[in-house]
Order: sequence, then structure tokens, then C-alpha cells
Amino acid sequence: SAAAVSQIGLVGLAVMGQNLALNIAEKGFPISVYNRTTSKVDETLDRAHREGQLPLSGQYTPQDFVLSIKKPRSIIILVKAGAPVDQTIAALSTYMEPGDTIIDGGNEWYENTERRIVDASSNGLLYLGMGVSGGEDGARNGPSLMPGGSHRAYLNIHNILEKVAAQVDDGPCVTYIGEGGAGNFVKMVHNGIEYGDMQLISEAYDVLKSVGGLGNEELADIFGEWNRGELESFLIEITSDIFRVEDDETGKGHLVDKILDKTGMKGTGKWTVQQAAELSIAAPTIAASLDGRYMSGLKEEREAAAEIFKKEGLSEDINNVGSVDKKRLIDDVRQALYASKICSYAQGMNLLRAKSMEKGWGLNLGELARIWKGGCIIRAVFLDRIKQAYQRNPGLPNLMVDPEFAREMVQRQAAWRRVVGLAIQKGISVPGMSASLQYFDTYRRARLPANLVQAQRDYFGAHTYERIDIPGAYHTEWSKIA
Ligand code: NAP
Repeated sequence: SAAAVSQIGLVGLAVMGQNLALNIAEKGFPISVYNRTTSKVDETLDRAHREGQLPLSGQYTPQDFVLSIKKPRSIIILVKAGAPVDQTIAALSTYMEPGDTIIDGGNEWYENTERRIVDASSNGLLYLGMGVSGGEDGARNGPSLMPGGSHRAYLNIHNILEKVAAQVDDGPCVTYIGEGGAGNFVKMVHNGIEYGDMQLISEAYDVLKSVGGLGNEELADIFGEWNRGELESFLIEITSDIFRVEDDETGKGHLVDKILDKTGMKGTGKWTVQQAAELSIAAPTIAASLDGRYMSGLKEEREAAAEIFKKEGLSEDINNVGSVDKKRLIDDVRQALYASKICSYAQGMNLLRAKSMEKGWGLNLGELARIWKGGCIIRAVFLDRIKQAYQRNPGLPNLMVDPEFAREMVQRQAAWRRVVGLAIQKGISVPGMSASLQYFDTYRRARLPANLVQAQRDYFGAHTYERIDIPGAYHTEWSKIA
């Protein structure tokens, strides 16, 4: 067989794998590729040829694939998460040798990675679980990479990862995340935050459309304008683009209006909310986004409910709001969106910190914000501000109380309340924006009605309570006194 010349290998040539392999080859690293269904190997070879004679070698068996890579070998796996990853590892590891590394780039549940790290090490193999964000375009032109696991394995390939990742003003969008499943966990929370951003943007759209009466062309312009300010981000940019696309199918109207209002999902949002609950971290904005997706799925029920309530005299759009000042509404919604976003990121960051404490990962929150500045779906100018907030104070208990963010929240709170209030009056659901506002209002209050909850718990369950004035645990025989 031919001499091993490839510096790295990649198996799994669907959307992500094919594009990442071409990206790696384009950066000058000879790469071997393999896929279970070998027609995808040919497809990738074709693309490598067409996209500039890239140094990519197609392999058709696991053995040839592994043996075509220089030792110590690094092999990236980009197949469907779960059992396919185990099957792929089983097929490859027969031919791999101690000191070689497996890098799973899929959206894997972090505990699967931790299990595989142990299995791999029993064969002398090193292992990384690496979050990859940015979709097809990111994989091809520069993703955000979140590798966790063996630090030694990271050092073997960091020069490749640094070239392949998106580049921003303060470096490549990759850093060693931490031990074990840290990379997968961070990617999971990234996706949870992404759910939040998308929900909040869709609510801004709903308010502007349903309360402000804005059309798609106006919406495209407004989102385009927002993308030149503090909200500048990939998701705002694509949102503006979306509103401009006309419907080719019928040749009438805009495509966005023809899309069924029913969201798909693959699980990372659910995992984020589950983990938040496990760790006692409030993540109401992210949870509201997940619930929003669940409820979007009840299309037929919602249609039936709309009919039932209409018969009772409640139309879908409650018209109890007087004429609105369009210009002010637009400006208010922009501020509400920004303030809501800060709350959502605060929740995600606090979840990361709690997990880091539990697992001893030593996550650097500022550095995570930095590697999300480019390549990934949540990339945004605003992430640089988050990076700076954690650099100023790594122990910051909540993003909202960083002096700069605190000032911004206060500046925007009146507009934020107007938007949420108006939506509530009008019967337009804004679960993400209101969850964020409630998060803010709960967190900033020194005294909450939790004293009453404690009294009730002590009343029926003798759970005891603490006092504000005297230390100790107290119990009262409430029913005897009352
Ligand atoms: P995918 O649709 O998740 O998976 C398809 C790939 O998995 C194909 O190469 C397929 O091989 C392989 N595969 C499935 N079952 C297999 C098995 N039992 N044994 C061996 N190979 C098997 O691909 P993707 O969308 O490119 O995503 C890859 C990973 O990246 C996933 O974990 C995904 O969640 C993650 N990710 C995706 C995106 C995105 O935008 N798509 C973004 C970030 C992360 P065959 O061709 O032989 O069927």
C-alpha cells in the first residue's frame, strides 16, 4: 500500500464532514477521507478537484483509511451522534495504534464522550469531543471549534484547528475547552443560547408585524439596519435576508409567509434545559424557547383552539391597543431584543459555570465568548462585550450585574417593558422576552415573596425556615396559632 502521507483523517462525509475536510485540505494539510457509503468519498474527491486540486485522498475501507494517515494519527469523526459514533470507532480502532487520537466532531451528549474517553484509553488511544458550530458554511470556511478531552491530543492538532477555525480580531475561534466532555457540553449550551436568540428574534418579528403592521420589505430593512448596530450578528443578518426572498413556487408574495409555523429540533435545546434543572440554574429564556418549539408543533390543536376562542368572541389579534407610533415601536423592540438577549446569555453562562464547578473543568467564560465571536451561529459583535465583562471580573455572578451591562439594561428597561406590556395587551405571546424580563426583575429584587413559600412549607411539612433577624432554623405550629 502507498506510504502514509496524510496529516489527518476524517470519516463521515455528510454536510459537515465533507465541508470540514475540504476546509482542512485547503489550509494545506493533506487529509484522508472515508465514509461508510463510499459514493460520498467520490463526491468529496470531485469537490476537492473542482475547488482547487486540494490535497485530499479518498479511501474506501477503514483499514486503508487508517493506514493512509501519518502516526501519531488524528482522525475526526463526523457521523450521526450516538450509536453510529460507537460503530465508527469500532471499525477504525482495530487499525489504530496507541498514541493515535479520535476526535468526535458531532453534537454528542457529553457523557457519551466521557464513556468513550475511558474505552479509548484502555487501548492507548487519546480522545477529544469537539463541538463544531457554523453549519455547512462554517465547516467549509471557518467554524467555531470547541475541543475538550485529552489535552495531549489537542496539542497534536492545535495548529491544524487554529488554521481551520474562523478568524476574528483576537485570534482563531478555537481554544482547549477542558477535560472530559467539556467541549460537547459547551457546544450544547451554545445551541441552547441559539434557541434563545432565534425565539427572541421571532418575537420581535411578531410584535413588529402583528402590533406595528410592518410588511416584509420594511422588516428586511429594519433588521438590516439593526445589523449595523449593537445587535449586529449572523442571525439578525440572515433574518433580514429571509424577509426579502420571494416565493418561487407560486410567484406570489414572500416565501417566509408560506412556511408552516412548526419548528423542528434535534435535542440540544432540551438537553440544555434538562441540565439547567439538574444544576438548579434558572434558564427561563432558554426554557421558553424550547416550550415555544413544542407548542409550535401543536399546529392542528392551535388552529382548533383559535376557532373555539373566536366563537367565544376572542379573536386571534385582540384589538384593544390604540394606534401605535411605528417609529417608536421599532426602536423599543430593538431595545427589548437586546436586553432580553443579555438575560439569555447570562443564563447560558451561569449554566456553564455551574457545570464547570461540578466537573472541575475550569471553564474560562470570557474565552468561550471569544471563540463564539466568529464561525458559529450565535456569532455577534456583542460577544466581545461578554468576553470583556468576564475578563474584568472572572467571578462575575451574573452578566446582568457587570457594570456596563447593568447600565445598558437600565437604559433599555422602559422600552422593554413597553414592548412586553403592549404584546400582553394585544394577546401576542412573547414568552422569551417576558421570561427575560421576569429573570431581570426577579434577580434585581433584594426581597422576594419567597418568605411566604417558606411559611407554607413549614406550615404543612415542618420544613423549618430561617429568619431575617436572628440566626437558626425555626419551626412554628402554625395551625395551632392561626
Ligand atoms: P448527519 O446527517 O448527522 O449524519 C450522516 C453521516 O453519518 C453520514 O456520513 C452517514 O454515513 C453517517 N452514519 C450514520 N449512521 C452511521 C453508522 N451506523 N455507521 C457509520 N456511519 C454512519 O451528518 P451531518 O449533518 O453532517 O452532521 C454530523 C454531526 O455534526 C452530527 O452530530 C450533527 O449533529 C453535527 N452538526 C451538524 C450541523 C449541521 O449544520 N448539519 C452543525 C453542527 C454540528 P452514510 O453516508 O453511510 O449513511
